[in-house]
Amino acid sequence: MSAKRDYYEVLGLGRNATQEEIKKAYRRLARQYHPDMNPGSKEAAEKFKEINEAYQILSDPEKRSMYDRFGHGAFSGQTQGGYGGFGSDFDWFGDLSSGFGDIFDFFFGTSSQGRKGRNARGARGQDIKVEVTLEFEEAAFGVEKEVVFERTEVCPECQGVGGKKKATCSHCGGSGEVRHTQTSFFGSIVTSRTCSYCQGRGWVPEDTCSHCRGMGRVKRERRVKVRIPAGVDNGYKLRITGEGEAGEYGGVPGDLYIFVKVKPHRFLERKGADLYYTLLLSYSQLVLGDEVEVPTLRGTEKIHVPPLTESDTVFRLRGRGLPDPQTGFRGDQIVRVKLRMPHQVSGEYRQLLEKLWEMERGTPAQKNKSGGIFERLKEAFTHPEE
Ligand SMILES: [Zn+2]
Ligand SMILES: [Zn+2]
Repeated sequence: MSAKRDYYEVLGLGRNATQEEIKKAYRRLARQYHPDMNPGSKEAAEKFKEINEAYQILSDPEKRSMYDRFGHGAFSGQTQGGYGGFGSDFDWFGDLSSGFGDIFDFFFGTSSQGRKGRNARGARGQDIKVEVTLEFEEAAFGVEKEVVFERTEVCPECQGVGGKKKATCSHCGGSGEVRHTQTSFFGSIVTSRTCSYCQGRGWVPEDTCSHCRGMGRVKRERRVKVRIPAGVDNGYKLRITGEGEAGEYGGVPGDLYIFVKVKPHRFLERKGADLYYTLLLSYSQLVLGDEVEVPTLRGTEKIHVPPLTESDTVFRLRGRGLPDPQTGFRGDQIVRVKLRMPHQVSGEYRQLLEKLWEMERGTPAQKNKSGGIFERLKEAFTHPEE
């Protein structure tokens, strides 16, 4: 295929088109190039695909701004990601094709059921949802996971027929629909309905298959290997086409949806592609400065804390965050400095602090009663009336 056309050009819009204009242009073009309006035209089908892709990106403010900044390169990861190794079709925009049914309803007022028409095959299989929980590191670096689930599959004994052979449906005579003729004042009205006996197939299984008891499908355990890209977060969804439940009597199978859950990290907090870390430093480290090691996703990193660093100062470790699973752009690790308060103060440490107190106040830390200021403070809390 030739190089991709600019998405705005595809929709015939300027760069600053409003969401409303994008929607309008899309509706008009999608109607014009819809495969049903252009039967057999490869060119129209290609155009239709192109229009949908452009709309998918430009109608989503987030994806649109990515596209504005980086062009097609922002999304090239999806098409050349090299995830084809498992015989599965990964769908990065989970809603790209699943939205087609709605488009149909929207334009033509037909349901996807109605589209099957007379040559109906069996109903499409159900989708399956599987949840996968990942360790934080697995999500950060990407991982290959084997997903085990139960699904219905086409019966291997009868290949989904449900019997040893197909017999013409006696209710509809094999046409798949039942006609009713009503004679009224205005003449006769013919209505036709899908034959409920054979669900529009025109045939019924004969000599029931004992393996599936005529259902044409059997339950089986299925194992699917999936590669989860680096940087996924809670709620990430992968769709694998055709790995869902088998369709009825030769209908297409449903899809498998993998919902990702990610366990939290021990000390790194995630916000989008950035990671946050709180670095606790003592008063002397903040005042005098120090060189400290900070844990990151990959080992440790040295941070130079300059003298007179304020609490809440932020250091940014560029590119030490997580990659965006779609674009590969890496976030940062943000290190926020906080004062570490000592748990207890005694001995020489206390004497030094008291000295410091004296220097800062210009008055001696009164030790007359019961020692240092900390004891006196404690006393004040335990005997408030004195
Ligand atoms: Zn069978
Ligand atoms: Zn029938």
